[in-house]
Amino acid sequence: MNKRWTIEEIRKYVNNNSESTLLTTEYRGFSQKLSFRCACGNTFEKTFTKFKNNGQRKCEVCQPPKASR
Ligand SMILES: [Zn+2]
Repeated sequence: MNKRWTIEEIRKYVNNNSESTLLTTEYRGFSQKLSFRCACGNTFEKTFTKFKNNGQRKCEVCQPPKASR
């Protein structure tokens, strides 16, 4: 069930599924926080699990945690 992602696969996923850009160039595991640049220019950090499974694909300015669904 738990697929092993590579940094290239994550980058593609981010490009295809969000308006954010992946800044991190090395992926070491699902608990690692990755750096993203939001479409607004802010950078934010999030684990890929949250990004993918919880739909947290923008910075906290564009997508405040309480408003995310
Ligand atoms: Zn933003």
